[in-house]
Amino acid sequence: MTLHRAWRFELLLLLLGAVLLFALGWSVGKPALVLLFGALGYILWYQRNLFLLHQFLSKKNRAILQTRGIWGQLITEIRRLERNNRRRKRKLTRTLKGFQESMSALPDATVVLDKHWRAEWWNGAATKLLGLRRESQRYRPIRYAMQNPGFSSYLGKADFRSPLEINSPADPQLKLSIRIVPYRKGKYLLQARDVTRVQHLEEVRKDFVANASHELRTPLTVLLGYLEGMTESEELRAGIWGSAIDQMQHQTKRMHSIVEDMLTLSVLETGGKGQAVQWVEMAPLLEAVFQEAQVLSAERGHRVTLEVEPRSFLKGNLLELRSLFSNLVSNAVRYTPDGGEIRIRWWIDDQGAHFAVQDTGVGIEAEHIPRLTERFYRADKGRSRDYGGTGLGLAIVKHALGNMAGELEIDSEPGIGSVFTCHFYSGYMVDAAA
Ligand code: ADP
Repeated sequence: MTLHRAWRFELLLLLLGAVLLFALGWSVGKPALVLLFGALGYILWYQRNLFLLHQFLSKKNRAILQTRGIWGQLITEIRRLERNNRRRKRKLTRTLKGFQESMSALPDATVVLDKHWRAEWWNGAATKLLGLRRESQRYRPIRYAMQNPGFSSYLGKADFRSPLEINSPADPQLKLSIRIVPYRKGKYLLQARDVTRVQHLEEVRKDFVANASHELRTPLTVLLGYLEGMTESEELRAGIWGSAIDQMQHQTKRMHSIVEDMLTLSVLETGGKGQAVQWVEMAPLLEAVFQEAQVLSAERGHRVTLEVEPRSFLKGNLLELRSLFSNLVSNAVRYTPDGGEIRIRWWIDDQGAHFAVQDTGVGIEAEHIPRLTERFYRADKGRSRDYGGTGLGLAIVKHALGNMAGELEIDSEPGIGSVFTCHFYSGYMVDAAA
């Protein structure tokens, strides 16, 4: 029976009952009273059915007596909804289980964290890489399991733009790269990847570059020595060999500069380990860099100016700082046409200290700017080689700044000039004049 028919039938019954009762009441002379009793009986019957329905819904009594009429329809409808719900629940559970299984099969450790950084769920790899295994670790702050101060401050800063590299708490031989991604309000996914092999390869690469540069340095110095002697010999310079010797000397000098820059980069890449860090007074250092710029410019006639905030100090390694500043200044001299202007500035403000080299040089097309600090990347290959560039200067600047938590900003307009600015934050500087 459809719902409509059931309701029609119910109304018909009610109407028929009322007519019968009225007729019965009429025959005994009390139609109103009989009708009232009839209505009362009807209400009581409804109350009973409601009670049975309540019992049915509260699961106390599933065997409901009335199965016909509108009440029967209601029960059938409820049973159908319940069946559908059960089916949907089973499907959802299956999907959730499948999802959890796929997360468990991931080779990277995955941990679901709440807003208080408590571990709510983790996969098998998290047990292996992070040592999360006991049930008692669930709903406890993850930092207890990690036992790493670096990790705790990473969580504290809540800046997850770049990953954190730490040793695994389960096995200190393993190096992990940790990433945290928010995926819902107050929910985070922590992912830890085993990067031991990648880091090892990176070490091998760095060692190779450092060793190769070191090995090349001595033969090149010997070659340079001989070539210098040859350029001074009138006898050798006579005839066709004169320009060949000049060429050889020029190219050997270039190779020597590249090897020196590669060695500087290797030291910087290892975080400048073993390098003496001290408070360096900026005025004398920048004065020396300024003098160097004038010597480099020589007869090219650049107008070089220097503005330095007096009595300020920067924490770092003297040689690294010197190499950082002179790379930027020598680039400005090399890439600025004769007679151009070069402005060297060092100033301090609320954000920290800043070093800027501004030139009226050739400038750089916008598309090259993000890649300038890559090794051997040159915006203009021909020009860089003509000016004796190694292609490593800005890579050195970037690494030296990275070791001091500094940042490089490049503004440039082709044909107008460039500004290279280094920003140093408060922890690395002292403003004694203040
Ligand atoms: P290079 O030894 O070639 O100068 P760098 O790493 O120092 O290598 O610089 C990378 C490239 O950036 C250069 O080849 C040059 O194209 C560009 N560049 C650097 N400084 C300047 C500048 N002041 N003006 C214009 N271009 C510059």
